[in-house]
Amino acid sequence: MAQPRYLTGDKAGIEEFIDKFDSFLFDCDGVYILAPNLTPARNILMVGVLWSGDHLFPKVPEVLEMLRSKGKQLVFVTNNSTKSRADYKKKFDKLGIPAEVNEVFGSSYSAAIYISRILSLPSPKNKVFVLGESGIEAELESENVPYVGGTDPSLRRDITPEDFAAIADGSMLDDDVGIVLSGLDFHVNYLKLAIAFAYLRRGAQFLATNTDSTLPMAHAFFPGAGSVGAPLVKSIGREALALGKPSQAMMDAIEGKFKVDREKTCMVGDRLNTDIQFGIEGKLGGTLMVCTGVNSKEDILGEGKPIVPAAYVDSLGDLMG
Ligand code: PLP
Ligand code: CA
Repeated sequence: MAQPRYLTGDKAGIEEFIDKFDSFLFDCDGVYILAPNLTPARNILMVGVLWSGDHLFPKVPEVLEMLRSKGKQLVFVTNNSTKSRADYKKKFDKLGIPAEVNEVFGSSYSAAIYISRILSLPSPKNKVFVLGESGIEAELESENVPYVGGTDPSLRRDITPEDFAAIADGSMLDDDVGIVLSGLDFHVNYLKLAIAFAYLRRGAQFLATNTDSTLPMAHAFFPGAGSVGAPLVKSIGREALALGKPSQAMMDAIEGKFKVDREKTCMVGDRLNTDIQFGIEGKLGGTLMVCTGVNSKEDILGEGKPIVPAAYVDSLGDLMG
């Protein structure tokens, strides 16, 4: 089995690798930061490609600038559904990395454009029940997709006997909901799951922003978006169509929007079962793993490894040679 090429310290190899591509798709995070002042001083997980929390990995702005100066197209592709593209732009600004809103492609935006432009259910049956946070709502609004649920405070409570009855007889349900969109919801509860399940039973389309099993946070790993939506998968007995990495629905949307030539595109990421799988399944010209993230060299070297990138570096900054 072909082993990945180690590019750290290999100046000629790096140049040859970069020259093969016109476009680079970058994973960004990193850990989810709840509140910067809650970040522990010790035992912090340093996980990511460009940054981890509020920590920028060394020479990241220089690498992006070097690629831009060579005329490469950059797209920042994230599975984080809790943030909109505008939120990401603010994060880039805060860390001093030049980037445009239009260069960001998140799983919430991917879901919003899938709903509005591909699924394209006739109004008013295109309403979405959201299991998730404000990033999903913002991106649905950007595509003029109507929604209910989400951050609605009236759903952040225990289910009552009256709720069971009102869900069962439909009086608590919106007849226009034709889609259930599941993402990371920090306020998930039985009431929301019961409502989402009722819509699915009525035949609503089942979509997910992403199905990551885990969420890296500063302290440790926590349940990810896929784990939040898992009770629905179990109860309804079918999988959601995921619109984040490694789903090829996301790759198709990126190809359509940015006009990338797959053979001349490289996916750069830290997680094998999302980022690298995304690039391999999408038949991109290359995949590059950074070892500052979820997976390590041990996961890709040796025989019988299921997901192997074309090349790897210890840290993204090593591309400066
Ligand atoms: N989902 C959430 C809520 C996150 O905070 C993150 C990373 O911080 C992810 C998913 C994974 O995102 P990415 O694909 O950018 O690694
Ligand atoms: Ca990542």
